[in-house]
Amino acid sequence: MKFLVLSDIHANSDALEKVLGEASSIGADLIVSLGDVVGYGANPRRCVELVEKYADIKICGNHDLAAIGETDTSNFNTIASISIEWTSHVLSEEDKELIGRYDPIVSRDGCLFAHSSPSAPLEWEYIYTTRQADRIFREFSERLIFIGHTHVPGIISYKNGQAPQVEHSPLVRLDPSLRYLVNTGSVGQPRDGVGAASFAEVDLGAGIIRMHRTPYDIMSAQARIRTEGLPEPLAERLATAK
Ligand code: ZN
Repeated sequence: MKFLVLSDIHANSDALEKVLGEASSIGADLIVSLGDVVGYGANPRRCVELVEKYADIKICGNHDLAAIGETDTSNFNTIASISIEWTSHVLSEEDKELIGRYDPIVSRDGCLFAHSSPSAPLEWEYIYTTRQADRIFREFSERLIFIGHTHVPGIISYKNGQAPQVEHSPLVRLDPSLRYLVNTGSVGQPRDGVGAASFAEVDLGAGIIRMHRTPYDIMSAQARIRTEGLPEPLAERLATAK
């Protein structure tokens, strides 16, 4: 089985459409969205529509729930709050209903999918370190655990009783004696300095995880943000990927 895991689309339809184009050439059996379909970017309705059409498993992110008034936003900074208010105004009732059906966490066929830490899926803990990964590996038993939320892609491997290791290659051959925590990075607002959409391809038959980077029309996404009058840093950020 081959599947793709996407996260943090953030209403960037230019990036999402390029990724879905690549998805069809890869020929995946299943697409998983790890959430934050909306927020920050200027085309939330199109992104909700595409996720509904193409994603088989849909997880909710903090921005998704904020846009439908179902999570606390007191820790959102000014720009995030402005963007969520705008998003909530633009989304139709039907869009909000679809977002309201996204799951907080899903386990299927030895794979666990969550937006942030699976330990408390609606508390939005950012996972960056091998120490945090160690706790997650001990708490869950799935062989592959997929998360997003930080917008920084990365793979950490784990062998029972040993310290987790960071994998440095974007192509990892699955070792049957190891388990893996995969942060798929962000489709629509990467923060690792690479201005290209990030997502993961998993081929269980071939035993590989491949991290993809797909270039897209950043200037088009920026133009939409400016046209809608959203805060300028949201446009600039796409180019710097910070
Ligand atoms: Zn996000």
